[in-house]
Amino acid sequence: MANGEHEELMDDGHLEAMDQEPYTDFSDDGEIGENDIVFDCVHCGHGLVINYRGAGLVINCAECGEPVQVPIPDGMELADLDQEPEELQNQIRHLRLTLYKAEERTQELESVINSLKERRTSLEKERATQLRRLAEIRSALEQVQRLNGEIGTACNRIFEMIQMEMR
Ligand SMILES: [Zn+2]
Repeated sequence: MANGEHEELMDDGHLEAMDQEPYTDFSDDGEIGENDIVFDCVHCGHGLVINYRGAGLVINCAECGEPVQVPIPDGMELADLDQEPEELQNQIRHLRLTLYKAEERTQELESVINSLKERRTSLEKERATQLRRLAEIRSALEQVQRLNGEIGTACNRIFEMIQMEMR
């Protein structure tokens, strides 16, 4: 699951929606800890709180479930994070999952593109066939017109012959 990181953060109490109680990392007076990053979800605007160790990570919003990147506070270097190997492992795992999902999505899109190309090719073939048929019909109609003209001329001659006979 790609949101495994998210769930782990939730379990740790590192991520919790602001208006949901109780937030385990809050200090006793109920304030947001100084090690917490407070930000709004870019998708739904929901207020989110996460431990500073989550800076720069992509998590799923607790409210709408969309992926959001945790902002990196001014002056904070990611290198400043005194991350434990376990956390780094989690981040690597999360990044791999994200990469895996992106690759999957890329493959999906490539197959969509391929099927669109096939569709276009078959439409082009249909169009070419249609144009050929239209050209055949046009030349048949031209022949009909020519024959009509010849029949008209022949009819006129016969009329003239009949009139001369009847004089
Ligand atoms: Zn959201």
